[in-house]
Amino acid sequence: MPELPEVETVRRSLAPEIVGRVVRAVEVRERRLRGGVARSFAGALRGRRLAGLERRGKFLLAPLDDGRTWLMHLGMSGRLTLGPGGAPGRRHDHVVVTLDDGRALVYNDPRRFGRMAVLAPARAAAEVGEGADPLAVGFTTEALHALTRRRRASIKALLMDQRRIAGVGNIYANEILFHAGIRPRRRAGRLGRADCARVVAATRAVLADAIAKGGSSISDYRDGFGREGWFQLDLAVYDRAGEPCRRCGGAVRSCVVVGRSTFYCPRCQR
Ligand SMILES: [Zn+2]
Repeated sequence: MPELPEVETVRRSLAPEIVGRVVRAVEVRERRLRGGVARSFAGALRGRRLAGLERRGKFLLAPLDDGRTWLMHLGMSGRLTLGPGGAPGRRHDHVVVTLDDGRALVYNDPRRFGRMAVLAPARAAAEVGEGADPLAVGFTTEALHALTRRRRASIKALLMDQRRIAGVGNIYANEILFHAGIRPRRRAGRLGRADCARVVAATRAVLADAIAKGGSSISDYRDGFGREGWFQLDLAVYDRAGEPCRRCGGAVRSCVVVGRSTFYCPRCQR
């Protein structure tokens, strides 16, 4: 499932190519994405110039020249790729947006948990939510410490709670806590300032490294040109149960935290 580094990689690959372009044609082949693709979607996008391509958490937001926002979410299995227009549709190609240079942005999503809408800025902001973007300047030790106060949930659950911290999913929550040296099950409310400082530093380092490596192609993730990322080769604990810890050589363990597979090193994480 694409997390923040994968969405940011898609954004960086597409922004220089599509920002400033005008939408010439919009074809919706499947409306049954999350929330449904509105009947008005194609008309709202056609003829508009793409004024930017931004990311908030796992959302991509393209401000349009009429003041509205094209909001996209890749869901569990979505791919947004730019290619030559007029190509024959593949299975699960649900939305095709043809630009004025003849190329087409194609949204492909086998599981259809993605989202595609043109909204007024206030509605787009409401859908994106208030969760802190962990790469924004406001994500500080103090901010995380405040988020953790009186929280009985585990730190891993908090990291993955999109209403509070936007963009971190299961893969990167496991990795961040390994690099911070903190057990995934520790209660968020029990973390001190020094612990929060380690989590913030690890979050920035892991996400930045993953973006630099084009994200993790665990299942079917690709960037805006269909290229794989290679951060999966650097994963320290995720999906490595029983394998040696890259730091201490002990066995990586797994457990389940809020229904998700969780991986940690019992020696390196306290
Ligand atoms: Zn270890």
